[in-house]
Amino acid sequence: MSQGIVTVAYIGATILFILALGGLSTQETSRRGNLYGMAGMALALLATLIGIVSDNYFLLFVSVLIGGTIGLMLAKKVEMTQMPELVAILHSLVGLAAVLVGFANFMDHTISLSGVEKTIHDVETYLGILIGALTFSGSVVAFLKLSARISGKPMLLPLRHWLNLILLVLAVWFCFGFIAQSAAGGGMLPLIAMTVISLLFGVHMVMAIGGADMPVVVSMLNSYSGWAAAATGFMLSNDLLIVVGALVGSSGAILSYIMCRAMNRNFISVIAGGFGTAEGHTATSSGTDDEGEVVAVEDAEAADLLLQAKEVMIIPGYGMAVAQAQHVVNDITRKLRDKNINVRFGIHPVAGRMPGHMNVLLAEAKVPYDIVFELDEINDDFPDVDVSVVIGANDIVNPAAQEVPDSPIAGMPVLECWKGKTTIVLKRSMATGYAGVANPLFYKDNTRMLFGDARESLSGVLALLG
Ligand code: NDP
Repeated sequence: MSQGIVTVAYIGATILFILALGGLSTQETSRRGNLYGMAGMALALLATLIGIVSDNYFLLFVSVLIGGTIGLMLAKKVEMTQMPELVAILHSLVGLAAVLVGFANFMDHTISLSGVEKTIHDVETYLGILIGALTFSGSVVAFLKLSARISGKPMLLPLRHWLNLILLVLAVWFCFGFIAQSAAGGGMLPLIAMTVISLLFGVHMVMAIGGADMPVVVSMLNSYSGWAAAATGFMLSNDLLIVVGALVGSSGAILSYIMCRAMNRNFISVIAGGFGTAEGHTATSSGTDDEGEVVAVEDAEAADLLLQAKEVMIIPGYGMAVAQAQHVVNDITRKLRDKNINVRFGIHPVAGRMPGHMNVLLAEAKVPYDIVFELDEINDDFPDVDVSVVIGANDIVNPAAQEVPDSPIAGMPVLECWKGKTTIVLKRSMATGYAGVANPLFYKDNTRMLFGDARESLSGVLALLG
């Protein structure tokens, strides 16, 4: 295939990827966005396979077959709740690929460059391996933390910021050594030393980050994997890889920024780590002096409250995903709307375990898009809400964020459901949420706790709605 056709195919794929990102920005168009992305990837793969690869077809097809089969099996098997860990482990593969391509490229003696061109190529190789290695090890640790194979608690070494600084200085120092030695035909040793440093840096960086900041870390690693791919694109002089890497890198960075804002955290303090614990599950103190009483209700009282309401706000959280309660939620919504009760959904940007988690589940259950609102859109409406139904959510409705100045989640925007008339909270126990912070909402006078698995409780409520 001529280079011209490959270039045209690459431009087509780039346009499809941009359309995919555009499509993914709203629920209505997200399915189409995914289709654009798939078409773009198919086109990019085809153009590369037919137009660029010229040798080793057997090896290539066997690896594509193995990789494709593993991907297909994983996608079929993975539960929605395991998505973040799947994403994390997939990022680790992008990082690993960048490292391997970097080394292969460095050892490829058919590339004969000299002078400034060689220096530029060496810097590309060095940066590609550096970003790739830290993406790889950081993503593996993120995967282990998110899948609870290791503790989600932040590991805080003494003098950890100094350790990071020393690793950074060493990485820069080895870069000069690498460029000088590479010009004389060597350079493998500094390259390996930097790879080890980057791997350590990745492990140390993510180990220091606590449970509550993990979403930001996953999206940040997503961004890094993009930059690693872009660096690989420079190494291989592959324009498509550069463009796609830059798209992933910048969209991941923007998402990290949006998530930091949603948690009222600044990016540097997230990276510096040390916030949030995923353990210590049973709440013993709300962090306030007057905890008060917890009022538990049964299905019948919850159903009565809903039937008497005019304005209902449903706030789903991680527990709705665990209980797979979204379909019952939709049935209840339909029933209430049939009775002329206005039902809306309030979605916090970090509800669940990944951005958009709740939107995906609600869309799957066919909840109409036009009654699903973002935090910013509905937070001022709570004083007019008769009943808020908090379904397996905890941190995102925690008033401690506003009321307890030294709370670990102080300043995080939260859905202010306690400002409504009554809040019904569905959960199984008094356990804390992901951030490990106790929740004073459960003790408020206008809060009713409906204990039990959310799907079972809601099925009970649905049966009583008549
Ligand atoms: P939380 O983790 O704060 O709370 C979930 C609640 O659901 C728990 O308190 C739990 O209580 C309850 N629950 C669990 N299973 C069930 C069930 N089967 N039936 C009923 N209730 C159940 O979730 P939120 O959505 O409120 O907040 C998200 C948190 O996750 C934030 O801290 C966020 O930072 C973090 N996070 C978010 C990510 C994202 O991108 N969205 C990614 C990673 C973390 P009990 O055990 O008593 O039932």
